[in-house]
This record gives sequence, C-alpha cells and structure tokens, in this order.
Amino acid sequence: MTTPTNAETPAEILAAARRDHAALVERGLSLNLTRGKPSARQLDLSADLLSLPGDRHTAADGTDCRNYAGAPQGLLELREIFADLLQVPVEQLIAAGNASLELMHDCLAGAFLGTLPGAEGRWADAERVAFLCPAPGYDRHFTLCERFGIEMIPVPMTDQGPDMDVVERLVSSDAGVKGIWCVPKYSNPDGVSYSDETVQRLASMETAAPDFRIFWDNAYAVHHLTDEEVEIADLLAACAESGNPDRAFVFGSTSKVTFAGAGVAFLGSSPANVRWYLERAGARSIGPDKINQLRHALFLKDAEGVRAHMRGHRELLQPKFEAVERILSKQLAGTGLATWSTPKGGYFVRLDVLDGCAREVVRRAAEAGIALTPAGATHPYGEDPQDRTIRIAPSFPELDALEEAIEGLAVCVRLVGAEKLVADQG
Ligand code: PMP
Repeated sequence: MTTPTNAETPAEILAAARRDHAALVERGLSLNLTRGKPSARQLDLSADLLSLPGDRHTAADGTDCRNYAGAPQGLLELREIFADLLQVPVEQLIAAGNASLELMHDCLAGAFLGTLPGAEGRWADAERVAFLCPAPGYDRHFTLCERFGIEMIPVPMTDQGPDMDVVERLVSSDAGVKGIWCVPKYSNPDGVSYSDETVQRLASMETAAPDFRIFWDNAYAVHHLTDEEVEIADLLAACAESGNPDRAFVFGSTSKVTFAGAGVAFLGSSPANVRWYLERAGARSIGPDKINQLRHALFLKDAEGVRAHMRGHRELLQPKFEAVERILSKQLAGTGLATWSTPKGGYFVRLDVLDGCAREVVRRAAEAGIALTPAGATHPYGEDPQDRTIRIAPSFPELDALEEAIEGLAVCVRLVGAEKLVADQG
C-alpha cells in the first residue's frame, strides 16, 4: 500500500488510490466497525459474574433478592459503589434495569404523559417540544427524539462541549426547547469532555421553559484510555447551587464495564425528580432485578474495584485506539483529506473527511467488505449537513482485523478525497 506525501498531485493520489481500492475489493474482506461493542476478551474480564452471587441471595440490609419486596431504588451497596463515580449523592441515585437507554426513554415518556417537577403541564399537551442535539452525537438519542416526535435542533460541538453561546441563545428565547442531550465525558463520537465552564453555564443558564431538562448521559464516566483520567465538573451540584436543582437527569450503566446489555443502569437526579421517577417506575415494575445488582456489587466490591476493573479494559482497548491513530497518521497525515480525534477515553474515533465525501467513503468501504456506521448517523435525522463525519468503533474486532479495516478505510478516504479534488480542479 502506498503512503501519500505532500508532493503528490490529486491526480497521482487518485491513480494510486484506485489501484489500492481495486486490490482491496479483490481481497473480499468482511470486517465490521459499526457499533461500539466490547470485544469477547473484554467480556471475559467479567467472567466471575456468571458464577455470582453463588448461593447468596441476601442484600446487605437483609433484603431477600429472590423475592419481590424491597429496594425499589436498587440495592444500596451497588448505589454506594457508583455514587461518586457518577457524581450523584447515594440517596439520589437509582440502580435500575439493564439499559440506561431505557431510563432515558422512561424519563421522556414520563415527561410526555405525566408532569415533571416544575412543569406547567404534560409535554404531550405542549405546542412544541424540541431538544438541542449537540452534533455529532449519539444516534440512539436522535432515535428516541424521533419516536417521541421531539424536534431536534443541532448545536455545533467544540472541544469544550456544545457551543454554549448557541445553547444559551436557543434555550433563553424559546419555551418549546425542553431539553438537551449531553455525553459529557469522552463523548460519542468525538471523545470530547466538557470543560468546567461548559458545565457551569449549562447549570446556570436562563431557560424559557420552566421544565427544561439536561439529559446527562455519562456513559463513559470511567472509561479511560490514557493515564490522564479526565474528571468533569459535578453537574447535579452545579444545578443545585445555581437554583436549578431539578434541571439534570444523570444516566450511566455498566454496559461497557461488565456485560453489555446484561449490566445495571443508573439514574441520578434531584430528590424531587427521583421521587417523581420512582413513583412512575413503581407502576411499571414491582422492582429491579436485585439478583443482578447483588452479583454486580459482589463482583465490583467498591469504587476502587471499578477503577481496577476498568484498567483491565484499558489494557485491551488502548492498543486498538493506538493502531487507529498510527494507521490514520501514516496513511492520511499531510494529505489534507481527513482529520480525526485522538480520544483519551470512551469507545469512538471521529473521522472527518472532505465536505461532501463521508457517504461515498462509507459506500466505497462497504464495497471492500468494511462495514462502517452509516454516514449521517452522528447527526439529527441522519443528516450531516456537511456530509463529513464518520464514526469509527475500534473496540470489537481483534487487533489484526482492526488494522486491516483501518488501512482499507484510509484507502477509501484517499480515493474519494482525491476524486473530489480532481473533480473540483476540472
Ligand atoms: N449512551 C451512550 C453515549 C452510548 O454510547 C451507549 C452505548 N453505545 C449507551 C448510552 C447505551 O447504554 P445502555 O446499554 O446502558 O443502554
């Protein structure tokens, strides 16, 4: 495979990339970089969970976890482990089912069908319900909005979080803007962590809607990839100090700590929001799966146990992220055809290609047997207005398959980028 240099003309890059792409298609690869799933080796780190809780079935407070009664808020010993990690006081933290997405869905359902603390009425009766969607962002947040008929308003991301000048202008002038999606640490897909100033401004900004909510999806709270373990400011505390105690819903889960889809999800919020949520949850289910929560508490033990466990994940993930960085640098640095993120944590790399090229890169990669998240998925309504951003999910494939896929992706970026440059010249 040829490595381009600054000296090459677009026509030369194109000719080389066409040859490389043809050779790539010829190889008949079948590689998948679509979803941020843990690899089998990462899941093996939690193998002991499969034999827990053994013959034990009582929680620390004596609750019989095999039965209906007790712990509607989730087991205290598990909430104690995650309270500090998620920056939520333990009494304001709920340990729930297996998916934080479910909790986000339920908070929306509750806001539409019931009345949130501080709300003047149900969102179902509101003239308009819109959410700010920092973009690029997480496609499943956008799917939830579509399901609930929530209008999505894109907000540009910066390296400090969403562009707060835009956010403040929109929320202060429009009572139809009821919420914002945030992935505040190692965001999906660009790996950005919100600055203290961003957190403070989100907590204290004036909102036209009295029932405005921040959906704070802290999915990657403990998912570090380097020695620099990024800390973000405490949103719940900042909201309370700013006189907006009910503004934030904090979400997290062990989906990428223990077993994806078979872990425990958390919701943290103000005392009023927690009461509101539990009242609704009590009608929906008699209680959470306490056996799974007990198993998790016994396995993870304490916050330090979680940190140590996450270092095991890092050992497996870091070489993969380093490989992505190394190959993209070798194949694309200096070409002017792409830029990419070098995240300090989380599960994704954001690759930006030339404007108007992302869909075509994904299509050319698919031709070569490399499946990527559809271009546009990182934006509301699946529409990336610049058709520029591609999300790379390096966690699942084995290292050699990942390397092959990123080499192939780089070929597609060069091919499509050079095609555009040549066309623009003509
Ligand atoms: N939020 C974000 C930002 C995610 O990236 C993911 C998983 N890809 C989730 C939520 C899903 O979490 P859960 O399994 O707890 O629903």
